[in-house]
Amino acid sequence: MTDFEKYKKLLGEFVSFQSVSTNPKYAPEIEKTVAWLKKLLSTSGFKTKIWKGKSSNPIIFSEYKISNTAKTVLIYGHYDVQPAESNDGWKSDPFVLKVNKTKMAARGVVDNKGQILVHIATAINLIKKNALKYNLKFLIEGNEETGNDDLAFLMQKNNKKLACDILLVSDGELTNNKPTIEVSLRGGFNCTLKFTTGTTNVHSGIFGGAIPNAGTEIVKFLSKLINPDNSIAYKSFYKNVDKISKAELKNNKRLTHEAKNIAKLAGVESLLGPKGVDFYTITGLTPTIQITGLKVGYIDDGYANIVPNTGEVRLNFRTAASQKAQGVVDDFKKFVKENTPKYVKSELSFSGLHDPVKINTDSPYFEVAEKILNKVYGTKVNRKNVGGAIPFVGDVKKILGVDTLLIPLVNEDCNMHGRDENFDVDLVKKALEFSEKFLSS
Ligand SMILES: [Zn+2]
Repeated sequence: MTDFEKYKKLLGEFVSFQSVSTNPKYAPEIEKTVAWLKKLLSTSGFKTKIWKGKSSNPIIFSEYKISNTAKTVLIYGHYDVQPAESNDGWKSDPFVLKVNKTKMAARGVVDNKGQILVHIATAINLIKKNALKYNLKFLIEGNEETGNDDLAFLMQKNNKKLACDILLVSDGELTNNKPTIEVSLRGGFNCTLKFTTGTTNVHSGIFGGAIPNAGTEIVKFLSKLINPDNSIAYKSFYKNVDKISKAELKNNKRLTHEAKNIAKLAGVESLLGPKGVDFYTITGLTPTIQITGLKVGYIDDGYANIVPNTGEVRLNFRTAASQKAQGVVDDFKKFVKENTPKYVKSELSFSGLHDPVKINTDSPYFEVAEKILNKVYGTKVNRKNVGGAIPFVGDVKKILGVDTLLIPLVNEDCNMHGRDENFDVDLVKKALEFSEKFLSS
């Protein structure tokens, strides 16, 4: 059997488990997945332990040591998946691997079973051939899709066991379908801002125009917060943002130029942002505040002619390196205080604070990975500033003190989280080749 055939067989088994973490009814399927992974790794020579947290699904920790002097690579992935139902429009059963000449399709085939399995299958092959260059550790969790409240605690508790020289994560998509190393992640948090302008809703005919209206006050506030070009109006919001280098700008302009149809992908008429600043620089290196929800007044059938006395807005903050989440929170509190009239009572709450991450592109591992990617894919490697977050990567830097190699392996049209999630066969083969070269040379 070729390495590809072996991988395909294992993937067929892995995706057959409905390890959906967003709904507790799948707990038995989670158990089966964990047992399958444990057996696969143990029978291949890995020492495997199951870690249990207070509320999270079991975490698999597995290690294979070749020597005391070899460097250690820790590889992170997750076995939980998003829900998938055949009647959501899947062309075939989402939990049965479907393979044709160009595509492999099933729930989890890219996010993240297919990608973590690239490294597991490769490691197993290299162990058999006695060609592994590093001591290897796998950390495979089951709550990536829901947010894992126990992970940081368990990492802290087991920090000696997790000790390594570099972390490798493959959990994303290529950029413009070219090999990609992700070099930064934005941080952020969520915020609820509640305005109260009176004790009760009152008649808009009797009082309208002469008293404060919670909806109007929210709109007035938001118009002071966000400029017409989407930038944020108060200066301190951009405090501690790294100066963007010429090389970064050039790289991001090229990526934006090569990317086709970003607007179409987002389902919008056109892009919007400060003049002359490209898409990847805005989403990767610039902080933003997005209004994610607004609640005020009456919105059921017909009309209620009222002056609403309360309203709230939900805001999602995305921060850029080297900002600290707490500092951004403090500055925003100050801005709210200064821009709320005395007759409005404002209440703020925040959740999910995490700092942005900057990857050390000067590390020898980065250089090796970039060279191998270049060779395997036969094209220049993209350096991508990622707009989203992987809080785990920030925790690793804090707790283990090591850098991360973020190397996505899948096609951009993989439709992760959607129907017919798929991995290009050609890219599967390239991924296996990259993993083999990286872990053996
Ligand atoms: Zn996901």
